[in-house]
Formats: sequence, C-alpha cells, structure tokens
Amino acid sequence: MSDTLFAKIIRREIPADIVYEDDDILAFRDIAPKAPLHVLFIPKKPIRNLDAAVADDGELLGRLVLAAAAYARQEGFAEQGYRCVFNTNADGGQTVFHLHLHLLAGRSLHWPPG
Ligand code: AMP
Repeated sequence: MSDTLFAKIIRREIPADIVYEDDDILAFRDIAPKAPLHVLFIPKKPIRNLDAAVADDGELLGRLVLAAAAYARQEGFAEQGYRCVFNTNADGGQTVFHLHLHLLAGRSLHWPPG
C-alpha cells in the first residue's frame, strides 16, 4: 500500500489533534468536522479499507469499534447517540485510503445520508 496522509500522522510527520492512542490504534479530530464531535479512529496497521481487511484483522477492527464507543461514552454522547461510519471506495465517499472509522456526534444525524 502506498503511503497515505494518515500514515504520516501515525509517524508524527504531520500534526493532528490526537485524542486517543494505544499500541495498535490512533484517534484524532477530523480536520473538517461534519458534527460537533468528529473523530477518526485508525489502525496503525496500513489497511486500505474494509474491502481490504482480512480475517486476521477481525480482532483489531473489533477493538477499533469498541475504542470509538468508549470514547463516545467518555465524551458524554452515549445516551444522546452518535454514528460510526467506514467510507469504502468511490461510492462510499472514501478519499483517504487508510482504513478509518468516522465517529460523529453532537447533532441529530439524518438517515439516509445524502
Ligand atoms: P474519507 O472521505 O472517509 O476518506 O475521510 C477522510 C477524512 O479525513 C475526511 O473527513 C477529511 O476531512 C479528513 N482529513 C483529511 N486530512 C486530514 C488531516 N490532516 N487531519 C485530520 N483529518 C483529515
């Protein structure tokens, strides 16, 4: 996989507002937030997107989702609600090809998205 913007964030080559990190996961505020809370959760492993994930990534992806849920709860959005999204390839609206989970909260989110 070619180097991406998010790989540079993991390596601290470009700045990001990091809100969570462990050995395998990094989370940082989206630079163009679509909701009052908009955080991207990424695996440090360079997986292109969900379509490129394999069975061995299952535990990592489970922990990624649970890290987002824990952060949403920590920030006080669990009761009010929030949305987690994996944009995948062109029709999914993916622009950065390093798998990421969008956590959006703090406003009423429409369904279906436009
Ligand atoms: P996607 O369109 O699903 O691939 O999402 C990529 C997201 O990355 C978009 O919501 C962008 O606003 C966000 N983004 C792009 N560059 C940066 C950056 N340097 N720091 C934080 N978020 C970024």
